[in-house]
Amino acid sequence: MANRTLTIIKPDSVRKGNFGKIITRIEADGFTIVGIKKIGLAQKQAEAFYAVHRERPFYRDLVKYMASGPVYVAALQREDAVTRLRKLMGATDPKKADKGTIRAEFGESIEQNAIHGSDSDDNAKIEIAFFFSESELTA
Ligand code: ATP
Ligand code: MG
Repeated sequence: MANRTLTIIKPDSVRKGNFGKIITRIEADGFTIVGIKKIGLAQKQAEAFYAVHRERPFYRDLVKYMASGPVYVAALQREDAVTRLRKLMGATDPKKADKGTIRAEFGESIEQNAIHGSDSDDNAKIEIAFFFSESELTA
């Protein structure tokens, strides 16, 4: 069934001029972009977005990194969107990501790992609503 996921092309990717290459990969994998915008995450937004990780030792640095420069947020649609995007992204640590994945190719470190993807259908809905109103989404 066609469903949706939320991606963030993270600050390291935007800084290095990799947005175009990454979004091309996503489209080539059959995703439709149903909403997209370039934004700077405020510290508070980054804190809220990654709130599930607030007890983790890397949380402070993660928030600082995500607010360090512009990102692209996009709502994506295709069959099995959550799983397919995570497969295309590769493992969290680019060193452990399969060859040919976005993180293996564009990630710098376990923190600066190029891209975010929702990890479940329920979280995809929450994350898309975090950045987009229904009227901003068009299949
Ligand atoms: P994302 O949620 O961004 O798609 P993920 O689901 O693969 O990534 P999570 O465990 O949800 O991984 O971690 C969220 C983000 O926190 C990672 O993408 C990375 O930027 C950062 N992160 C995760 N683990 C570490 C770590 N051990 N050290 C530093 N940063 C980390
Ligand atoms: Mg995650």
